[in-house]
Parts: sequence; C-alpha cells; structure tokens
Amino acid sequence: MTKLFSKNDNSFICENCHTLVNKLGYTSRDHCSRCLCSKHVDIMPGDRKNECRGLMVPISCTISAKKGYIITYKCTKCGAVHNNKAASDDDFKVIMSVMNGTYDKMFIN
Ligand SMILES: [Zn+2]
Ligand SMILES: [Zn+2]
Repeated sequence: MTKLFSKNDNSFICENCHTLVNKLGYTSRDHCSRCLCSKHVDIMPGDRKNECRGLMVPISCTISAKKGYIITYKCTKCGAVHNNKAASDDDFKVIMSVMNGTYDKMFIN
C-alpha cells in the first residue's frame, strides 16, 4: 500500500507533478512543495474521512499576519473549497503564480 498525502507527515509522490515530496518535519505535510497540489481526504482537518480523494489545486492565496501564506484550494472532482497554510519549503515562485493568476499555465494541463 502506498500512503498518499498522509496527515502523519510521510513523504509521498505528488499526483499532479509526480515529484517525491519529503517529510516536512515540523508539522503534517499536506500538499506538494513544488506545485502546491493537495488531495481531498479530509472532512474536518486531519480526519481523512473523505471518500472523494480528488486532486485539490490552489486557486488563490492570501497573506495572514498571524499564519503567513494561506492557500485556498478547490477540489477538481467535487468542487469543495478549503484553506491550507503554506509550508516553509513551498516554492515561493509558485505561491506568487497563484497570487497573480498564472498558476494554471505553469502546472495544470
Ligand atoms: Zn506536485
Ligand atoms: Zn473532493
């Protein structure tokens, strides 16, 4: 069994860009550090009870004084929207591309 997007901070292969994403180390890794994509596995954060398993892609990003970069995701399968904090090693250029609307051209085929 391959664990994908585990909330227990395991490494995983991104389903969008196929990068091996290593453990984060300080909190649960929940999205790809290269393309920022995530997977729809939670109903409540961390519960992994969602049967959807769709690819979650970043649709916008805002800056919070307390939390840093907050990425808003939309599930490509069911259309659900939710927010995630950016991780410390997320590619800043990609975060910027989400903010300025060029992300789709870079990562979504
Ligand atoms: Zn990726
Ligand atoms: Zn979904």
